[in-house]
Amino acid sequence: MLEDKNQERTSLEKLGEFGLIDHLTKEFTMQHESTLKGIGDDAAILDFKDKKTVLSTDLLIEGVHFDLSYVPLKHLGYKAVVVNLSDIYAMNATATQITVSIAVSNRFPLEAIEELYAGIALACKKFKVDLIGGDTTSSTTGLLISVTAIGEANEKNIAFRKGTKPNDLLVVTGDLGGAYMGLQVLEREKEVFKVNPNSQPDLEPYSYIVERQLKPEARKDISGLLQVLGVQPTSMIDISDGLSSEILHLCKNSEVGCNLFEEKIPLDPTVISACEEFNIDSTMVALSGGEDYELLFTVDQKDFEKIKGNPNLSIIGHMTDASEGAHLITRANTKIPLTAQGWNSFKSE
Ligand code: ADP
Ligand code: MG
Repeated sequence: MLEDKNQERTSLEKLGEFGLIDHLTKEFTMQHESTLKGIGDDAAILDFKDKKTVLSTDLLIEGVHFDLSYVPLKHLGYKAVVVNLSDIYAMNATATQITVSIAVSNRFPLEAIEELYAGIALACKKFKVDLIGGDTTSSTTGLLISVTAIGEANEKNIAFRKGTKPNDLLVVTGDLGGAYMGLQVLEREKEVFKVNPNSQPDLEPYSYIVERQLKPEARKDISGLLQVLGVQPTSMIDISDGLSSEILHLCKNSEVGCNLFEEKIPLDPTVISACEEFNIDSTMVALSGGEDYELLFTVDQKDFEKIKGNPNLSIIGHMTDASEGAHLITRANTKIPLTAQGWNSFKSE
């Protein structure tokens, strides 16, 4: 996976801007009734009828947010879309459309941009969203990608960062820390590759965590699941920066405190074994690792029976009065203040 598989190199200049846009977007079909007009005019037109429109945007820059020496372009395209959809799902909304803007330097051949768009197309299909537009321009340095995700929701279902109150249960989907440990494995392999370019990394034992890093999946399923269970979350956020930082966002916005229980944090066995191998504390990885794109939300105590035992959901703590602050209750039953920085800041106390 570390070698350049693009044998063909068609220069972007040959196509020109309009040729490139047409080439990249011609296979995309519209799947939503709300998309009245997609690509091909000066603007797209959407109609959400009686629903609210939800919108979020992100900008990804080569060398800052991704490293093309170990991230295949197809994965990058997929991930760029997925992380944006995650923000829509984090409002307890349904994602319906995206726009994609790219700036490329001519060091990239057409085949490379095709790979990027193959990843974007895969995400559109898998998460059922329409690509309705974007912009294409040149860059003198690296690759830039900006994705805007658009979604819809009934007003009563929208979940904000603000809204939770003391005694609400804190719930997380899936498991945590995988994406961060996957990155550790990839960075180690990159160093090995620099020393010996003929080395063949065996990533098989790490496939789950490497996939969590390279090909994260946003939780499209959760808003529907909560609807079926009859649960309206009182607040919600997606986990892009790590559990600790996201909990603090909920606390700050809702003016509450929180008790998080270390023993309740869901970890995959692969994450635990990779943590042992790299000599990193798995709780710290879950708290500060980030990029898991799971959802963190709160529910009223009365909904306990509806969510308890659900394989997708783990109850990891409860909210408290703001005056109590936000803490991790360790397995040894000590109370450590949660901080957004993680790692070393946990050493004291
Ligand atoms: P304008 O000059 O109005 O910006 P463009 O020629 O840039 O128009 O774009 C033409 C159409 O192609 C528009 O519908 C635009 O949204 C779409 N488009 C341009 N670049 C991209 C891209 N990278 N991905 C998807 N759609 C794009
Ligand atoms: Mg344009």
